[in-house]
Amino acid sequence: MTSLAKDRSSGAPIIQAENVQKHFGSFQALKGVNLSVRAGEVVVIIGPSGSGKSTFIRTINALDPHDGGSITVDGIPLNGKGNLDAIRREVGMVFQSFNLFPHLTVLENITLAPTRVRKTDKAEAERRGLELLRRVDIEEQAHKYPAQLSGGQQQRVAIARALAMDPKVMLFDEPTSALDPEMIKEVLDVMKDLARGGMTMLVVTHEMGFAREVADRLLFFDGGNVVEDTTPEDFYNNPKHERAKQFLGKIL
Ligand code: ADP
Ligand code: MG
Repeated sequence: MTSLAKDRSSGAPIIQAENVQKHFGSFQALKGVNLSVRAGEVVVIIGPSGSGKSTFIRTINALDPHDGGSITVDGIPLNGKGNLDAIRREVGMVFQSFNLFPHLTVLENITLAPTRVRKTDKAEAERRGLELLRRVDIEEQAHKYPAQLSGGQQQRVAIARALAMDPKVMLFDEPTSALDPEMIKEVLDVMKDLARGGMTMLVVTHEMGFAREVADRLLFFDGGNVVEDTTPEDFYNNPKHERAKQFLGKIL
């Protein structure tokens, strides 16, 4: 991590989550999660299946409304009072399953939200779209359809699509879990590049190399709680929670 990125991460919190709770019927998926993320920080979230990782990051851009506690993103409270559009402009999200629009070309996938939501001029959106495709090293695929691309290429399009809205925060939910091993690196390289550029990122991933190389912090989720919040180095060398020790034993 460069000293430049470290300097950025000493700023004011851009995400502030306090005692966040989420129920599905009588089941409590989040049991009071606290997290403060400063601008420029890269936070990796790991934990067993079902521990609430996806639910938590989905509450950060209000894909799932939380039902207890509070979340503020860049000063905007997520309180269900009509500020959803504002939040979704601030927060980009990338899913395990890419979620591209199959009937639109790569470039159309990228220009859709800027032209519809931000009312960006079509030519300008396309210019910017091609620039983003160049950034994720896939410009030559601009006029193909998602099904004509490899999984790694589709995921890079999904990242470019999220970036097209100029988000302040990027959320990733297991972005490489659906990819063949040889495609994982090309997606992680794009994410590393974003991190080095100072993007604030919350990343659910079990890619330990990525965490060690770029994460400022690592959160370990278990049973709807954050049970460790430390540096990747400290977590690997010295996991405190019994569940974290078992988990590390399985994935390393
Ligand atoms: P993780 O991403 O850590 O694997 P999730 O956040 O997806 O875990 O899920 C946490 C818990 O909440 C799980 O027990 C899951 O079954 C439950 N859950 C998630 N989404 C729903 C839903 N839409 N309806 C009911 N239960 C859900
Ligand atoms: Mg999940």
